[in-house]
This record gives sequence, C-alpha cells and structure tokens, in this order.
Amino acid sequence: MPKDVHKKSSGRRPPQMLSIDDPNEKGAVTIRFIGAAQTTTGSLHRIRLPAGDLLLECGMYQGHRAEAEEWNRNLPVDVERVKAVILSHGHIDHCGAVPNLVRRGFRGPIWCSDATADLLPVMLLDAAHIQESDTARMNRRRKHGPPRVPLFTTIDAERALTLVRGVPYGRPFEALPGAEGRFVDAGHIIGSAAVHLTLRADGKSTTLGFTGDLGRRDVPILRDPEPLGQVDWYLTESTYGDRDHENTGDLLDILQDVVTTAVARRGKVIVPAFAVGRTQLVLYLLHVLRTSGRIPEIPFYVDSPMATRATEVFRRNPELYDDEARAFFSEKGALFHRAQTSFTADVEESKALNHLDGSAVIISSSGMCEGGRVLHHLKNHGTDPRNIVLFVGYQAQHTLGRRILEGVQRVKVYGEKISIAAQVRKVNGLSAHADRNGLLDYARRLDGEPQKTFMVHGEPEKTAALRSWFFEHGLKRTAAPRPGDWHRLL
Ligand SMILES: [Zn+2]
Repeated sequence: MPKDVHKKSSGRRPPQMLSIDDPNEKGAVTIRFIGAAQTTTGSLHRIRLPAGDLLLECGMYQGHRAEAEEWNRNLPVDVERVKAVILSHGHIDHCGAVPNLVRRGFRGPIWCSDATADLLPVMLLDAAHIQESDTARMNRRRKHGPPRVPLFTTIDAERALTLVRGVPYGRPFEALPGAEGRFVDAGHIIGSAAVHLTLRADGKSTTLGFTGDLGRRDVPILRDPEPLGQVDWYLTESTYGDRDHENTGDLLDILQDVVTTAVARRGKVIVPAFAVGRTQLVLYLLHVLRTSGRIPEIPFYVDSPMATRATEVFRRNPELYDDEARAFFSEKGALFHRAQTSFTADVEESKALNHLDGSAVIISSSGMCEGGRVLHHLKNHGTDPRNIVLFVGYQAQHTLGRRILEGVQRVKVYGEKISIAAQVRKVNGLSAHADRNGLLDYARRLDGEPQKTFMVHGEPEKTAALRSWFFEHGLKRTAAPRPGDWHRLL
C-alpha cells in the first residue's frame, strides 16, 4: 500500500462499517473509495468538493445475500451532502443503488451518457420489479416478525428516472459547481462511458479520469474505447487484471457451424444469453450469417422481456455502432428490427415456442440459466438430441449453466429432474471487459502518466496482478485502495 493513501479502514472490514464523515480540510477536494474497492461489485466512489459530494457511480452490491442486503440497505454515504451522481453505464452493479439513494431523499441530477439514459429505465425498473417480487415471495414464506420491505420499489425507480440527465459523448457538463464532466465511449456495453472530470476549488484545478468498465477493441457492434486525454488522477477497473483473453477465433465460423449442424437434423439452437449486450451481439452475428447466405432462412426468436426492451435501445441508437455494424445497417436495413427477428410479447407467445416445429434459434435469458424463460426452453428442448444448447458467456460456479456446460446430464429445472440430451457447445472470449493488455493500452493512451493510478473494480489478486503488469511496463505510480481509503486530489 503506497504511504500516501490514507487508511480509514483496517484490513477487510465490511464496507457497511465505514463511517460517513471523514475529515476534509476546508477547500480541499478528496476522493473516497467506498464500493468496488478490492471487489468487482457495488461501484461507488465519492468525490468531496466544497460545493458538496459527487458520487462517481452508485452501484448495487451483488453477491452473497446477507452481505449484499447489509450493504445495500446501509449505503455508507451522507445523502444530505450528495449533490450529484455520475454513472458510467447501465449495469446494475454501477447504477442499481440510485433508486435507494432517491428513496433516502436524494433529489440531485444523475448524469450519464444519452444512451445510458435510454437504457436506465430498462435496468432500474427491472431491478425494482425483482426487489418487489423477491420481497413478496419472502414475506409469503415468513412465519414470524414484521414483513420485509424491498430495498426500493417501482415508484423509487421511476422517481430516480426523472432525475437522469443524458449527455452526448464529448459534450462537457457541469456535474455540480467545481466539477465539470465529459464522457467518452468506453466500448463496454451500449452507452458505456469513461469519465473525464475537471475539479476546481480555491482557484486551483485538477483532472481525474475513470474507466468505468472498459470494453475491448474490435468487438462486434460497439466502438473501440476512446482515449481520455490528460488526467492527473486515474481510476482504472481491474476485473481481468491477471488475464490475457484468448483469441475469439472466428465467431461467425463457430456460429455458422452450430446453426447448420442443428438445421441438418431439424433441431433448434437454444442460446442462454444476458439480456443487455450479449443477446444483441448474437442477433447481429446471426443476421450477418443469414444475409450472406451462410445459414438457411430459419426464424430467430428473442424470448426475454428485458432483452426485448434492451434491443429497442440498441435499435434507437445506431449512431453508436462501429463502422462495420453501421455499414451493415445501411446496406442490409435496420439491425434488430422486428421484421427480422420475433420478439415474444407475452408468456403465451413464449409458451407457443414449446411446440415450435422445425429449426429455429431461441435466445433467452438468464445467461447462466439461473432463472427466466430460458429454463422453459431447457426443459422443453434440452432433452432432444437434435438440439444444441449454445453458451455465449461466462458460466459462474454453482450455476445451472455451469453444470450443463460441464456435461452434467441429469439437472434440476423447476424442481424436476431432466436429462440434457441436446449437444452442448460454447463460444469463448466474448467478455465485455478489457484484459490486462487492454487496460494497459488504455492507460498508455492518456496524455502522460497520471500522478497516481488507483485500481478499482477487481478482486484483490487481480488488482495486484494489474499493478505488477503496469509496473513492469513503466507505470509505477499505482495504488490499490481498500474500502474507506481516501485521497486528497486538490
Ligand atoms: Zn459493466
């Protein structure tokens, strides 16, 4: 730990134990690392300025239930001092605590990119719905004690949405007096941004850059991350700080092989996929294959209400596609259009897919088969050896997706044991995060080395590995803050 990072916490004290009022000299500008410090969830960094507190991210802590509950309920921020929030993108671990902040009285602006503003209703209303239905289910089972209340409700989420201020990439905005922001494309999901801040106090100024979640170069649809320019202080994510992503191979070749194999035996392809990003990527690749005649004209279905809404956001923002996707779009017509793909509207239409005759591709969430409509498709189509289950994303340990991927044949779906007879395939390397070389490359594209690079959003060993990687490549002024650590910026 570099000695100039002031420690307020000792060891790995649970984040909810953080005090909310640390000392701040008059006129000083400080940053405090609250969430996503030595972990990858609950992103939350607080910048304290003379005019008030600015939250850089306001993410929900996702993880072990009791721990997550504790953190999310007791978000360690002084809500009265918080004057504005900046969000890098629409993933729930970066924005999901906003409705809770609003529930506790926050009424300031929530700044994000235009496309993130477009995506937030999908994400926050879905999160509120999960809160409400989970709480209702727990209360039905609860025999004693007062009923539980959700972390936030649809009303809180809707109120939060009224505070959202979308800004185009590149256009400066005053987040609060003394803090001017600017977003650049981070290439991670649609609307994702890296953030450039100019902070001013007492006639002086300093600059800070934040990667948010950083994407990869050359992924379909999304543009490559844009450089941040000059920054004095730099916060970089470190999710894959110890890894080189494997070469993706030719995604189109793999997908073509999967679809033609299934079609040859009149089978279906079931694709469990995350609703935002992965679903649209698979759809795009399928369209490329179909329009170039590499796969037959079979129907594509998206069977996930959230994926349908997220796809609308992609459809509404074609100016954010990379050159290749834009060229495809102008030549072959609108991507993600309903004429080319069927989006199931309700449970009845979803159920009708159980009796679908002939070949088709069905993309459904959740991506790790832990819930959602994909379970119905596994139950109805996973037992047929003509079909293929195609995994396109990481499958965490202890998930149904992981078990199927590992070849377990008898699995439980909705309490019922079924035998997976379908062929199981996977496409590797579609991660939405940069690897250590991507992170290093992005840091090197800054104008000069920052005074200090703070590594956040990574498990301790990944963050440590990235520090070493940066050090080896000449970027030596790094720190790995722990929850509660703070640093004076100005
Ligand atoms: Zn993300």
